[in-house]
Amino acid sequence: MAACPICSREGSEVEKITVANHVRESCWPLGDEKYSICENPDCMVVYFTADGSRTLKKADVKTRVTFKEKDAPRPLCYCQQVTEENVLKAIENGAKTFEEVRAATGIGGGGHCKVTNPAGRCCSRNYRPFIEKELMKRGHGSPAGIPLFLG
Ligand SMILES: [Zn+2]
Repeated sequence: MAACPICSREGSEVEKITVANHVRESCWPLGDEKYSICENPDCMVVYFTADGSRTLKKADVKTRVTFKEKDAPRPLCYCQQVTEENVLKAIENGAKTFEEVRAATGIGGGGHCKVTNPAGRCCSRNYRPFIEKELMKRGHGSPAGIPLFLG
């Protein structure tokens, strides 16, 4: 575990293939250090090396990192290219359950998160809580009975 050299928050380690896929080519080569992602929404750093010698900031990263963005489009599912705005639209258009949102947006099940998601992990960690929160806000859907892992 390594802490972000700018905001000091603990990061999550990511694989080199993830970093390589999302940073601008002008940042190459990435070197041999291990990289982590800073998940602090208020910090401009996206990736940093374990020894703190190198930080890759938002401007160095081609992909929009959901939790670092405050404006649309905010990607929710990178494999299927679904944004928070797509989900909200589906709910406005009548989706009342997680399954209905999934059917309307095609979210989930892409299986390439390690490469497509800049955090290098399954997008469901982002979109499930988001969809459930938005449904609950509108008085729909209870998390009970929803299968835990949909990929
Ligand atoms: Zn940070």
